[in-house]
Amino acid sequence: MPTRKRKPGFDTLAIHAGQEPEGLTGAVTVPIFQTSTFAQVAVGKNKGYEYARTGNPTRTALETCLAALEDGRWALAFSSGMAASDAIAHLLKAGDHVVMGDDVYGGTYRLFVRVFDQLGIATTAVDMRRLASVRKALRKTTRLVWIETPTNPLLKVLDIHALAGIAHAGKALAVVDNTFASPYLQNPLAHGADLALHSTTKYIGGHSDVVGGAIVGNDPQLRERLAFLQNAVGGVPGPLDAWLVLRGAKTLAVRMERHSLNGQAVAEWLAEHPKVSRVNYPGLRAHPQHDLAKRQMRSFGGMLSFELKSGEAAAKRMAARTKIFALAESLGGVESLIEVPLAMTHGSVRGTKLAPPAGLVRLSVGIETVHDLIEDLAEAIG
Ligand SMILES: *Cc1c(COP(=O)(O)O)cnc(C)c1O
Repeated sequence: MPTRKRKPGFDTLAIHAGQEPEGLTGAVTVPIFQTSTFAQVAVGKNKGYEYARTGNPTRTALETCLAALEDGRWALAFSSGMAASDAIAHLLKAGDHVVMGDDVYGGTYRLFVRVFDQLGIATTAVDMRRLASVRKALRKTTRLVWIETPTNPLLKVLDIHALAGIAHAGKALAVVDNTFASPYLQNPLAHGADLALHSTTKYIGGHSDVVGGAIVGNDPQLRERLAFLQNAVGGVPGPLDAWLVLRGAKTLAVRMERHSLNGQAVAEWLAEHPKVSRVNYPGLRAHPQHDLAKRQMRSFGGMLSFELKSGEAAAKRMAARTKIFALAESLGGVESLIEVPLAMTHGSVRGTKLAPPAGLVRLSVGIETVHDLIEDLAEAIG
């Protein structure tokens, strides 16, 4: 990229950061370096790569791009969001304690309470909208505060700046799972978080065709420890997967604009519907943290949930009747998805105080023509 005074904008970085034409042939698109090893120039002397678990140029391009999009100094790519979360959990040791939101992604909760719990790491889950509860949950041994915002499936918005402050006062790291917002809508590092985590499977990949994860940060020591874990544990993306995520990232800005427009329109339409009792979308003025969302996020994205007055059976019936919205788990792709959290993504918390309302329906609003989406929902609600 030509040097200039002003930092390039988000859309430019998405397409060019880490993606200069390739040196040997001038290929405009970063090649898929489908190789497991790299020939050495002499013993102990190489061209920057030795073995592809440790590093691969396609992955380097992706990491450079993701760092630029989060405005961080570095990024590390993983084979899934959970592999990235696992690397962060591996920063801890037996006796350490974690505080996390009480409605974090189910896989995150499972990783801490079913895997790392056995290794002597305790976890407390609290409603992170209540800062006093977070302060109270902190122990002398708390080393990690895990924040996910907006939350899933209720779209609560948490104050990253305030929560990072509480974490730091207790000498704990503040990690933000930024998957729901994507780096286009929200940059946790700018609000004081130490690490931003992504399941790149979702908005960054954006086309429901790849599983991946990433961690972005500023502190070089954290980079060194996490890069060590990335290589030592080995949860790295293959070159094709890294390439797919990078290709998705190029259009993140335009996709998020449309996700947000469609999300807002669908949320406003649902809010007026007589069979709907409640809509959870941070872009609605009635959302309890709408002002915080406006401060913290660029716009409000494509994720929303709503409750049907007539409960779980009606929610399930509706979810099976849509024709454009596919009945599926996951989120963040170009295509619209519908699901019933209690019966699908959040089945494991049924019967606990963390269970979502029975009649709750979650939408991942895609980038199709919005009138078609609303018509599809109207027919399915009946
Ligand atoms: C999907 C998801 C994850 C896990 O990512 P995978 O790529 O499925 O491993 C973590 N956090 C959130 C918020 C997610 O939606």
